[in-house]
Amino acid sequence: MGRSREDISYPARLELARTPTPLEPFKRFGDRFGVDLYIKRDDLTGTVLSGNKIRKLEFVLADAHSKGADTVLTCGGEQSNHARATAIAAAQLGLGCRLILRTGDPAHPPSPEGNILLNRMCGAEIVWITPEEYRQRDEIFAREETALRASGRKPYRIPEGASNAVGAWGYIRAMAELADQLAELPGGATQPTTIVHAAGSGGTSAGLILGNLLLPGVNARVVCINVCDDEAYFRRVIGKICEDVVKRYNLKISFAQNRDIEIIDGYVGRGYALSQPQELELLYEVARTSGLFLDPVYTGKAFFGMTAELSRNPEFFSERIVFLHTGGIFGLFPQAKEISALF
Ligand SMILES: *Cc1c(COP(=O)(O)O)cnc(C)c1O
Repeated sequence: MGRSREDISYPARLELARTPTPLEPFKRFGDRFGVDLYIKRDDLTGTVLSGNKIRKLEFVLADAHSKGADTVLTCGGEQSNHARATAIAAAQLGLGCRLILRTGDPAHPPSPEGNILLNRMCGAEIVWITPEEYRQRDEIFAREETALRASGRKPYRIPEGASNAVGAWGYIRAMAELADQLAELPGGATQPTTIVHAAGSGGTSAGLILGNLLLPGVNARVVCINVCDDEAYFRRVIGKICEDVVKRYNLKISFAQNRDIEIIDGYVGRGYALSQPQELELLYEVARTSGLFLDPVYTGKAFFGMTAELSRNPEFFSERIVFLHTGGIFGLFPQAKEISALF
């Protein structure tokens, strides 16, 4: 039999997320497609500190703490859920926080809506940069680190989405948590299960994939739907994180990029953080008929992609599907106008 979650030895972790999160049946949509659909509610890891990023930050911030950092520095898009989770966790831990955020025109930064409001309220400093500068963000990180050190602070750099070898442990642990929950369902953990989720910076996918390999008693496939870039990009990014974890922590598993990374490409739509009417219509339908809120940037697109594929190519999926709800509720508010057009 496979190893159990107790056999996995984890790096240091701070307790910041409300876990385990529930695994709930989602019959209304499952019945429509003739599958057993469940939602893993990682939108419930907290209220403002909700979503998938906090699971990764539990490990990343433990690492920052062990290195004596007093300020965290991270980056993202203007409505980044990761930046918001970092800012709130930093406030809880008494750390300083500087956010490097991408926006069209830094001279006229966006109004404090959604995640930006929360960042401001918990005292994060924001450095606005252009999309061009964002592509060269290592230089911006270096510049800000130098400035922070010059003012006597000890910065700790967290990459986009906390998606690195340390952060991936958040979803190795989540996979172990989910494995325990699958074991309680009819058919148990050996029933074929497809775990579907949105990929943005790849850390969630990497963690789930590695967790799945560490728990061979679970008969699951991990499938991601990319919300930006393309399949080749994510194969590279997710593959790199997985290989880093295997090497750095000396994991006794065999990871193969081509076998273990499964990506459904084709649902980026109009581009990152841009919505199509049919995506918003589905998100509205889910809210109206189930009281479940998906977000327009990640989970709405992934859920749209999953249902489209269930119609187009149902053989791809197993009978049991777990859709991982990764959070992102605050991304709804900046799109209030587009969503209201559907009422
Ligand atoms: C960041 C994010 C994702 C993607 O997770 P990655 O680990 O960055 O790939 C999915 N959903 C939501 C709501 C997010 O904020």
